[in-house]
Amino acid sequence: MSTWHLDCSACDHTQGGDTLASVCPSCGQPFLVRYDSPWPSRDAILPRWDMWRYAPVMPLLDGETPISLGEGATPLHELPKLAKEIGIGRLWVKDEGLNPTASFKARGMSAAVTRAAALGVPGFVVPTAGNAGAAMAAYAAAAGLPVRVYAPRSTPSPILATIQALGADLQLVDGHIGDAGKQSRAFAAEHGFFDTSTLREPYRIEGKKTMGLELAEQLGWTLPTHIIYPTGGGTGLIGMWKVFAEMRDGGWLPRDVAMPRMVVAQATGCAPMVRAFEAKADRAVPWENPETHASGLRVPGPLGDRLILRALYESNGDAAAVDEDTIRANTLRLSRASGVDTAPEGGCALGVLELLVKQGRIAKDAEVLVFNTGSGASYRF
Ligand SMILES: *Cc1c(COP(=O)(O)O)cnc(C)c1O
Repeated sequence: MSTWHLDCSACDHTQGGDTLASVCPSCGQPFLVRYDSPWPSRDAILPRWDMWRYAPVMPLLDGETPISLGEGATPLHELPKLAKEIGIGRLWVKDEGLNPTASFKARGMSAAVTRAAALGVPGFVVPTAGNAGAAMAAYAAAAGLPVRVYAPRSTPSPILATIQALGADLQLVDGHIGDAGKQSRAFAAEHGFFDTSTLREPYRIEGKKTMGLELAEQLGWTLPTHIIYPTGGGTGLIGMWKVFAEMRDGGWLPRDVAMPRMVVAQATGCAPMVRAFEAKADRAVPWENPETHASGLRVPGPLGDRLILRALYESNGDAAAVDEDTIRANTLRLSRASGVDTAPEGGCALGVLELLVKQGRIAKDAEVLVFNTGSGASYRF
């Protein structure tokens, strides 16, 4: 129910909204969706129980039905005992493992597939560290379109099985998501299939920004002091930071609202964003030999590096990495303290929280929200 255009995130290039877009044709950086229609009041939120309840502030045209499988509307659990143990004021976990195909990738893919299908693409192709491929397979099936998925051979087998069960043409790649990306782009160029890689189209961000809308609504239109986000390509972090400003400017939050400090959590085996943040850089240097069992974080050279770093600097945020044993220990710890079947990426977020509290980088009175981005079940094999 909105109209929008696309602004390049790095240069002056701008173009009309409802076109099939990839990256900026003049500089190769990601586009951001900018709304032309006035931001409606909170009363415009729809009475439906998925992320499309926020359709009036999302890229959806009048009268259009989104391609949806019930993504979003995930629970937010407060964990007072764990907050005390770690030594902070309040702690919540948002459980994104309950999404279709068991990760928050569903949000982005629902938005991206809705737009691309409306514009008549013949099919989709995506490189993935795992969960994006499963989500892509599901939404392509819902749209009735073919999809090819390029995934590293090392992807957890339950995720590969899900991709195949949903009818995608799965191609195993020797290497990491960057290697999968090269093959995926070559295939897209040859066959005209639409490439839904992270930040190579503008709408996955708009789907993932609904996490920010949702957590604010769940907290009674207030925000936590810190958000700990297990970061691979960074879509969710970028999307939430974007929507917090949209909500403030649109009157959904007070003008003087204290914005959350955005915190990147990564694994020490693949921490390009942590290294760039520590160097106060505005770009990240790709990580050599990325290795972590938290496969969603195995993204050595994110295309959205500038946007991630911008969100960290603007929010006075932070970034840290923890090792594989700390991730394993905190995955079990979060599971047992909350009942949420935690993915390693969620364990990584909790490990980073504890590290930052120990180092005095997160204060004792902080009210912190950590993301569990997937389901532990996808990693047991
Ligand atoms: C993709 C993924 C991430 C990283 O998400 P980005 O928004 O790309 O940074 C984290 N956790 C899980 C489980 C994922 O699938």
